[in-house]
Amino acid sequence: MSIQKRPIPKHIFEKLIERGRWRCKNGRTPEEEYNVYLAMHNFKLANDFTCEKCGYRGKHITVHHIEHQADRPDLAADENNFQLLCPECHIKEHKKK
Ligand SMILES: [Zn+2]
Ligand SMILES: [Zn+2]
Repeated sequence: MSIQKRPIPKHIFEKLIERGRWRCKNGRTPEEEYNVYLAMHNFKLANDFTCEKCGYRGKHITVHHIEHQADRPDLAADENNFQLLCPECHIKEHKKK
C-alpha cells in the first residue's frame, strides 16, 4: 500500500532540509523540525491515517494544528493540539477561522 508507516530516518530528513526539499517552519532548527515531524507521523500511525471528520483513510492525510503553529510554536509537537484531517476537511477547517 502507499501509506508510509515507517518514519523518514533522521539522517535522510536532514538531507532533505539541506537540499531544500523540506522547509523548517516557524524558524525551527532541523532538530526541532524532525521532532515535530516525528510527533505528527506517530499521530498518523496512532489514528490509522484516518480523517476524524469524514473517515477518509489514506496517504494524503494531514495533521492539523488546532492552535496554529505560527500562533503557538510551543504546541507544534503536542499531540493534544493535533487533529487528523483529509485535505478537503483540512481546507474547511481553515476556512472557519
Ligand atoms: Zn475528511
Ligand atoms: Zn491546519
